[in-house]
Amino acid sequence: MKSERPTPRAVSLPVAAAALALPAVLWHGGATTGAAAAIMAVAIVALVLAPRRALADAAVRRAMGIAQAERQAAARIRAAEDETRAAAVVLEALPDAIVELDAERRIVRANRAARELLGAVPGTTLLSAIRDPDILAGVDDALAGRDTVNVPFVLPGPVERHFDAIVLRLDIGAGLRSRAAVLFRDVTALRRADRVRADFVANVSHELRTPLTAVAGFVETLLGPARDDEPARLRFLAIMDAEAKRMTRLVADLLSLSRIEATEHTAPTDAVALEPLIGRAADSLGAAAKAKGSKVTVTLEPGLPPVVGDADQLQQVLQNLVDNAIKYGRSPGEVRIQARRADRPGLPGPAIDIAVADDGEGIARPHLVRLTERFYRIDAGRSRRLGGTGLGLAIVKHIVKRHRGQLTIESEQGKGSVFTVTLPAAAAAPVPPGASQ
Ligand code: ADP
Repeated sequence: MKSERPTPRAVSLPVAAAALALPAVLWHGGATTGAAAAIMAVAIVALVLAPRRALADAAVRRAMGIAQAERQAAARIRAAEDETRAAAVVLEALPDAIVELDAERRIVRANRAARELLGAVPGTTLLSAIRDPDILAGVDDALAGRDTVNVPFVLPGPVERHFDAIVLRLDIGAGLRSRAAVLFRDVTALRRADRVRADFVANVSHELRTPLTAVAGFVETLLGPARDDEPARLRFLAIMDAEAKRMTRLVADLLSLSRIEATEHTAPTDAVALEPLIGRAADSLGAAAKAKGSKVTVTLEPGLPPVVGDADQLQQVLQNLVDNAIKYGRSPGEVRIQARRADRPGLPGPAIDIAVADDGEGIARPHLVRLTERFYRIDAGRSRRLGGTGLGLAIVKHIVKRHRGQLTIESEQGKGSVFTVTLPAAAAAPVPPGASQ
């Protein structure tokens, strides 16, 4: 049979009453003093009440613990919400397009790049934005739990764009709706750079092969059939000399182009006086001008300040432009070099225009935008005959870019062309005529 055990509370009251009676009896019987009996009574009451207070204290402590845990949980939720919001802001701002998909390939989320680039609208299916079978197959694979795949993807349009589409499996948290994501990384610039590099190597090889073939052919002829033919020998040696010089010029231009590119990110800081600079360029091409019966004139606006630049590189710019103006100008013709303060709104500070004008046949509009590309020539045969490497204007463009300047090409067919280089003016006082940096 189950024994009835009294609860601590039921026991404590009769025990307390009996215990309180004890000091009273002792005092009454004279066994103790009144004060001692009172202390005894208080002690007994305290002893009886102690377990109850302990219970209350435990309940209070438990309640306080729950409140603290609730506060900590709320803080954790707030922090998680903040992190989610921050992640959403970052995703939205990313230049890569990102779409998140649910198990039915519906778009759950699409960042700004995805909305603008692919027209991805949350709530619609991926198929409405992308029809590429490889990407769709990759998404199906990811939804089936298979591994991440990379798919090359081309977006057609007036300017074709190339992407690496990375399909990701999102097996995180059962409560999340997104099951897969596709990230589109724009690699158009990389692909273009690859093509430019490949074209450049092909062009350099071609440019070097032509004179090399000529030289090798003439050497063979001189060693064989023309061994004892004095007039032929002299003629062939002259051609070989010209071809060898062309190769030397080409290699020199290539080296200077790579040197300029290597320093392009650091703008020069020297103050360069214009008069001696322009004078040197005009003088160095005096013989070429004379050979064509052409005249080179220089006009400088009075009191021009120096420009900020690298004197050697600016010398090269002027030499290339004046050389072209002589080569492609009339024979006999006139090449005009002018320097003046630039009067154009939109320039960041005071600037100087240096213009080189010729009276040649001019350049048709479609060619104008491509003239500064490496090896771009309107008439390759003519350029080669005149000793050109096809790199002169590319060098000019890169030097001007390093100087944080501008190159403007204007041309009217039948009338001639004007190549204008705009350079930042140095803050220093005007350099007296004849002074050089
Ligand atoms: P090149 O060594 O062929 O002269 P450049 O890079 O200096 O190479 O010039 C590229 C092309 O631009 C030239 O082949 C020529 O067709 C054209 N060009 C350059 N300057 C002039 C000019 N002043 N007048 C007409 N055409 C020019």
